Amino acid sequence: MSTGITQSHLDPSNAVYSEIIPAGEPFMKEVGRGQVVRIVDLEGNQAVDTLFYRADDTDERYDANNTIREQGNIYLTTGTTLRSNFNAPMLRIVADTCGRHDTLGGACSAESNTVRYALEKRHMHSCRDSFLMALAEHDKGMTKRDLPSNINFFMNVPVTPSGGLTFEDGVSAAGRYVEMRAEMDILILISNCPQLNNPCNAYNPTPVQVLVWGAETS
Ligand SMILES: [Zn+2]
Repeated sequence: MSTGITQSHLDPSNAVYSEIIPAGEPFMKEVGRGQVVRIVDLEGNQAVDTLFYRADDTDERYDANNTIREQGNIYLTTGTTLRSNFNAPMLRIVADTCGRHDTLGGACSAESNTVRYALEKRHMHSCRDSFLMALAEHDKGMTKRDLPSNINFFMNVPVTPSGGLTFEDGVSAAGRYVEMRAEMDILILISNCPQLNNPCNAYNPTPVQVLVWGAETS
C-alpha cells in the first residue's frame, strides 16, 4: 500500500469546482456523495492538513485509528478507505500521484511550535489555529473539541522498523495530486499548513488547488 501511484482519468476542464487555497490559509467545503475531490500540490512539498466530517451530523468524522486498522497499513494512498469514528467508509482514495500520505503526525499548533522550536515561535501561524478560524467563520457549531487527529496529505512521516517517527523532507513534487470519491455527504476542513520550522513544507508554504467532479449538490 505504500506506493499506490495511480493516475486519474478525470479532466480538470470538466470539474464543477476549482479553487486555489493560498499558502497558509484554511478552507472549508461540502461535497456530495459520489463526487470526486482532488487536492493538487501545485508547487510541491506542501503539507495539507485535512479533516472530514459527515455533512449532516458532524459528530461523525474522520478516524485515523479505524482507517489504519482496517487497511492494516499506516500510510494512505490509492485503495485506502478513509473511515469515520463509526467505522463507516467516508471517502476512498481513487488516484494518487504522490504515493504516500501521513495520518500519524497530527497538526501543528502554537503549543507544538513552542515545544519543538522556541518560545518565540508561539505566535506563528499554525494548522490548529487555521482549523479553529475556519470553524468560527463557518458556524457549524463546532469547537476545538471537534478537531480529531487529522490527515497530512503530501507529508512524509516515515515509521522506522523500530517504530520511530520523524518528519522528513517531502516525497511530493509540483503538480502531484490525491483524489478521493465521497461515500457520503462530506464537509471538508483543510489547513494549508503555514509551518516554517520543519521540512514538511520545505520551509516555504505554497498554494494548493481543490477540484471537484460530479453533480453539485448546493
Ligand atoms: Zn501545520
